[in-house]
Amino acid sequence: MSAQHETGGAAAHRVVVLGAGYAGLSAAIQLACRVKPGEKVRVTLVNAQERFTERLRLHMTATGQRLAELSIPELLEGTGAHFERGWVTAVDADARTVRIDDERVLPYDTLVYALGGVAGTPAVPGVEDHAYTLNGAQDAELLADRLSRLDGGTVAVVGSGLTGVESAAEIAERHPELNVVLLGRSEPGAAMNSKARAYLHAALARLGVTVRSGVEVVKVLPGAVELAGGESVAADAVLWTSGTRVSPLAAAAGLTVDERGRVVTDAALRSVSHPEVYAVGDAAAIRQGYGVMHGTCQGGMPTGVHAAVSIVRELQGKRPRPFRFGYYHTPVSLGRHDAVVQFTHPDDSPRRLYLTGRVAARYKETVSAAPWPTWGRMKKMPASGVFWPRGGRFTRGGEAR
Ligand SMILES: Cc1cc2nc3c(=O)[nH]c(=O)nc-3n(C[C@H](O)[C@H](O)[C@H](O)COP(=O)(O)OP(=O)(O)OC[C@H]3O[C@@H](n4cnc5c(N)ncnc54)[C@H](O)[C@@H]3O)c2cc1C
Repeated sequence: MSAQHETGGAAAHRVVVLGAGYAGLSAAIQLACRVKPGEKVRVTLVNAQERFTERLRLHMTATGQRLAELSIPELLEGTGAHFERGWVTAVDADARTVRIDDERVLPYDTLVYALGGVAGTPAVPGVEDHAYTLNGAQDAELLADRLSRLDGGTVAVVGSGLTGVESAAEIAERHPELNVVLLGRSEPGAAMNSKARAYLHAALARLGVTVRSGVEVVKVLPGAVELAGGESVAADAVLWTSGTRVSPLAAAAGLTVDERGRVVTDAALRSVSHPEVYAVGDAAAIRQGYGVMHGTCQGGMPTGVHAAVSIVRELQGKRPRPFRFGYYHTPVSLGRHDAVVQFTHPDDSPRRLYLTGRVAARYKETVSAAPWPTWGRMKKMPASGVFWPRGGRFTRGGEAR
């Protein structure tokens, strides 16, 4: 961490954070607020939009519900972090620069890579042309527009993971005039205990969602999806939620990535090939004692905070500490008035304890609303951001090396 540059006559260490999602914002705010006056660190946060995308609520956007206007530059006010709006088009890991909108070049000494992930659309023919996604707010708005124009008919939601379940339930509740079919390889709620799963199935049935598990969608056509085996399911709109895909920028820059393109990190969340790059959130492949973490907001925010704390330690000449995280819940909304919250062991396996109904719906709403006030608190008291479950024996001694 020696490269310096001159800003206003003073040498500053340039930290560039790519992506202002849950992980990137946590990193930028935590870092900017930990930098003491006199410590010459310049934090720049780059994101495609000025408005924060509440990914946790994109199924609400897709059904025409208006979300709060959350401005990233306003949130950063008072932290000293700079906001740069633009689309990152390249990272040059040798020159230590990022290119924005193919025109601006931003040098860095330390990079925090937090570009998130989206549904895995390219693998199946027709998805890119004929299916809707929840990859961003605009994508969700396009689906909302389509649904509002349908008088009746069928919506096929592909992917029986939690995003698929939440979306199917939300669409069925908001559009009772539509048939909603949830298609996927696995059973919805497969990772829950049997009672929580049974509740989830009953709730989907009550909302009128037809669940078809054990099916593989192999093609999306203009008015249907085709299943392996040749069966065709008619659909006036198709929402694709299956699989995950990350930005190709890390791989193109020569960073070591896993089979899904996520940046492989060491125990401190640094790229194993480029230690001046921290990778956090859905864009990172972070190994814990129980395996590689899967993309969630509950895990993504701690990774951002940990990267920030580690950068400060390195600037102070200290070794960064290993990152440890254990899951604690899986909250799944079933429309606006119902939900299932499955409490989990740190390795994400289900506990016996779960919540259902309105209590669970309130719990889920509290979780979805939490990030913004959390960052507000972090601005006043950075240490408030460092409390998360470390995973106990599930993560002790088993982190990435
Ligand atoms: C409907 C839905 C419900 C969910 N519910 C839950 C839940 O209840 N609990 C939970 O823990 N998780 C949930 N998730 C998952 C959660 O949203 C993700 O794990 C989380 O958003 C990951 O955070 P992140 O910061 O890594 O990425 P993101 O939040 O995706 O942020 C990435 C940011 O980078 C920006 N970006 C990407 N590429 C570029 C580029 N080239 N140039 C500039 N900017 C770029 C994006 O615009 C975005 O702002 C849900 C997801 C969905 C879709």
